[in-house]
Amino acid sequence: MTGQQPVEIDTTRPHPARMYDWYLGGKDNYPVDEEMGRQMLTLDPRVPVMARVNRAFMQRTTRWLAGQGVRQFLDIGTGIPTEPNLHQVAQAVAPGARVVYCDNDPIVLAHAAALLRGADEGATEYLQADVRDPDAILEGAGKILDLGRPVALSLIALLHFISDEDGAHELVRRLLAELPSGSHLVVTHATSDFTPEESKAATDKLKAGGVTLALRSREEFTRFFAGLELVDPGIQVPHLWHPELGEPVPGQDDGPIPGYGAVARKP
Ligand code: SAH
Repeated sequence: MTGQQPVEIDTTRPHPARMYDWYLGGKDNYPVDEEMGRQMLTLDPRVPVMARVNRAFMQRTTRWLAGQGVRQFLDIGTGIPTEPNLHQVAQAVAPGARVVYCDNDPIVLAHAAALLRGADEGATEYLQADVRDPDAILEGAGKILDLGRPVALSLIALLHFISDEDGAHELVRRLLAELPSGSHLVVTHATSDFTPEESKAATDKLKAGGVTLALRSREEFTRFFAGLELVDPGIQVPHLWHPELGEPVPGQDDGPIPGYGAVARKP
């Protein structure tokens, strides 16, 4: 784990990792996160279902990738540990799987120990880093993963926190450029395509609370996969991506889940 610096948690403004934890029913959040979370629920009461659908997507894609022989995972925007975590899913299929987690929120660093308890044959590591600094991430990941062999890069419910000004698409391209043929990209992303008015209101509220939300259209989402081969069934609302690989999330079919998910392979 990088650094032994004291972890400072800012409880004066909401943080995405802690709001997400609140949606999932976790305990690692503060009143300011719950308050903003409740405001999001007044705009779309299905946000907690969306969070669970997203977690379930991570589990199914990881299972699928490990089944395809992928043994190395780089997960950026990991979030507060929530069982099962990615390494547990991967190592249940392939005990030797190696997983590097990365997040920029100090609350994730504070709980990272739970991400490091894995199978003895494999390896898990946590990097405290920002996706907007891909060079630091690649350098840290390269100490645990063999970047000359295929890696599954997962950016799950992360990129809608990265604006175009910060170069969301360029950052993904930069990370993929360092990974060899046979690597995979796994992404989910919130969209305003299905509920434009609520999405605009949510973006404004979050902005007032100091959180950037960059919702993207299907076309903008598709551009993250430029030059890659989309894995069947292509771009989907996340719960329709290989549903047979996991259990359905209660409520997932009761209305729109305003997001997209996809997996693609680097040729
Ligand atoms: N991937 C997890 C958590 C999603 S919540 C899951 O799907 O369950 C989004 C996560 O992205 C949060 O933990 C937040 O702290 C992290 N995040 C947001 N901006 C980031 C950045 N610039 N760099 C790294 N992580 C970031």
